[in-house]
Amino acid sequence: MNCEEAQTLLDAYMDGELGIERSLELERHLEDCPRCAPELATRRALGSALRERLDYHAAPLALRRAVRHELRRAAAVSGGAAATRRAPPAWVRMAASLILVAGLSSALTYYATLRDGDVVPDEIFASYVRGVQSGDRLVDVASSDQHTVKPWLDAKLDFSAPVKELASDGFPLVGGRVDYIDGRQVAALVYRSRKHVVTLFVWPSDGRARPLATSLRRGESLAHWSDGTMTYWAISDIPAPELVDFARRFQAAEPMPAAPASGARQP
Ligand SMILES: [Zn+2]
Repeated sequence: MNCEEAQTLLDAYMDGELGIERSLELERHLEDCPRCAPELATRRALGSALRERLDYHAAPLALRRAVRHELRRAAAVSGGAAATRRAPPAWVRMAASLILVAGLSSALTYYATLRDGDVVPDEIFASYVRGVQSGDRLVDVASSDQHTVKPWLDAKLDFSAPVKELASDGFPLVGGRVDYIDGRQVAALVYRSRKHVVTLFVWPSDGRARPLATSLRRGESLAHWSDGTMTYWAISDIPAPELVDFARRFQAAEPMPAAPASGARQP
């Protein structure tokens, strides 16, 4: 099997529509073809990204008819082989209707997201470095007391950020500031780990919970998770396992209860 042949079979293969013999032939080709194997991976990634990231809206009947009509017309136009040519794969059909329904702007946003999927970690990194390097911009409210930090943040933000004291876990609270990440205001909680700064960025999540995951950005450790209500990004120059320890302790710690009426502060 040559590459050209393999490429025409990839979509059918992905959709499970290729017979067992053809599948085996294709798999043999994919095993050592430097061109076709990545092509399959890309199509799979795009397919699952579309399924996962785009809201699905049922197309109105008229639109569905129009799309089907277009697809049939396109198949007819593509020449003598049309009779044996299969319909576009499921993910292309789905993408086509999604893009039509969701509108061009969403599609553009989607492709921008694919390309710039890592802007958030970059912005986290930049904000963290700015804070650490400009000593006096590290915190706007300097306090190890969550009863001081939380009301200050609540007054500045359009959401209520969970503030937790972790001094007994080895991460004393230094304070907080308001920052901008991904085009919105976020809370930046600043902790210390020995001589190191740990900054935890918090903002409302898209509603999906994400398990704790770590990564590296230019030598800094990052830890990211979402509890379905808030999304969290922790960053520090401490080693990743220590940052994971910080994240787990933050997750386990009790949040400060919702603020009572002002003046009812604990002595
Ligand atoms: Zn090939």
